Amino acid sequence: MLQFEEALARVLAAVPSPTRENVPLNEAAGRVLADRIRSPLDLPSFDNSAMDGYALRATDVASAKPDSPVRLRLVGKVPAGKTLAGKVTAGTCVRLFTGSPLPTGADAVVMQEDTCVEPSLAGDVLILAPVEPGESVRLRAEDVKQGSTLAEAGDLLTAGRVGLLAAVGLDSVPAGRQPVVGLLATGSELQEPGQPLAPGRIYESNRLALAAVLKNAGAVPVTFPLVVDLLAETRAALEDAFSQCDAVVTSGGVSVGEMDFIKQAFEQMGGELHFWKVAIKPGRPFVFGRYRGKLLFGLPGNPVSALVTFLLLVRPALLRWQGATDVSLPAHPGVLAEPLANHGERRHFMRVSVDPAGKVRSAGRQASHALSSMAVANGLVDVPPNTTLAAGTAVAVLRWD
Ligand code: AMP
Ligand code: MG
Repeated sequence: MLQFEEALARVLAAVPSPTRENVPLNEAAGRVLADRIRSPLDLPSFDNSAMDGYALRATDVASAKPDSPVRLRLVGKVPAGKTLAGKVTAGTCVRLFTGSPLPTGADAVVMQEDTCVEPSLAGDVLILAPVEPGESVRLRAEDVKQGSTLAEAGDLLTAGRVGLLAAVGLDSVPAGRQPVVGLLATGSELQEPGQPLAPGRIYESNRLALAAVLKNAGAVPVTFPLVVDLLAETRAALEDAFSQCDAVVTSGGVSVGEMDFIKQAFEQMGGELHFWKVAIKPGRPFVFGRYRGKLLFGLPGNPVSALVTFLLLVRPALLRWQGATDVSLPAHPGVLAEPLANHGERRHFMRVSVDPAGKVRSAGRQASHALSSMAVANGLVDVPPNTTLAAGTAVAVLRWD
């Protein structure tokens, strides 16, 4: 049986190289950047005020105090978005607002709260406190220098990155194309929601859960109808899905039972099976294969096994397909608040919930069909075979939320 790392390496090695497309920036969040982006601008692009206040020369107000203010002549006003033709000279000031360009001649801004304006001053301003040169001034290029790198090829376009790229004036970016992924659920017991359950049947839940994690991984899910446990039907469903999609994710039908048809149907249609067992729990049966440059991920039917194997083995492939550099689940440090025991012979990726302080607890029942614990879990902890990790052990929590 394949070890997890070997299985992941084989999957990643089979992923097609990313192809790129230009994406409007307003649709780019969650996409993977295909090129390094250098800034076409300085940010800020001009010296400007960090406060509502007055632009002045710091030397003019060095002695200012509330009981002995310095009186300056007001020579102009610059709303944000405007510029001033004139300049600040000795003994004068200019009214500014947050973001207003700093007028020539001024080297600092005194905030409005340290000033006094009243009718008796005939338009002059009393400055009640000194300022250092540069105070409350945002200098040109102090945030970003023109030509500096804003993001690298392979970076995920987070909200922050999208905002930064917009701030330097970009309206589109090159991004990795998103794989279109067909979702099939196999099992004659499965029923669509919306009608009372027939005896012995269960509601199908994998396609919805998998569509959610697929979208989070930047892929485009396409949901196909339920597939009954018959070889011909399974094959027809696979062929249909492969004709429309870049990859197909199936659930169920990958074990050793005589009703498990995924492997057989896939090989019959000409698919090349790479492996179908991985030494992990949940999810020992996990089929991986290739068909005409497209990929098959055959997940186990148990809902927890399907989700966990998706997160460990499929999510990285879909991200790599888009050109992402970081493809593994982010590992956050945590400390066990209670023991975690793996009595089995395989590594167990146990469902845990980790609180904001980093305290990690089992999310509940760890059986592969126990979806309630999946619903409260926000991470996985990799527990080696035949091992009990004691309370207080430092662990890496693999997170996907
Ligand atoms: P299988 O992998 O086909 O042997 O299925 C293992 C278990 O998962 C069985 O109890 C199935 O009924 C259940 N199962 C399979 N597919 C689904 C699905 N799409 N939604 C919910 N449960 C499923
Ligand atoms: Mg089945």
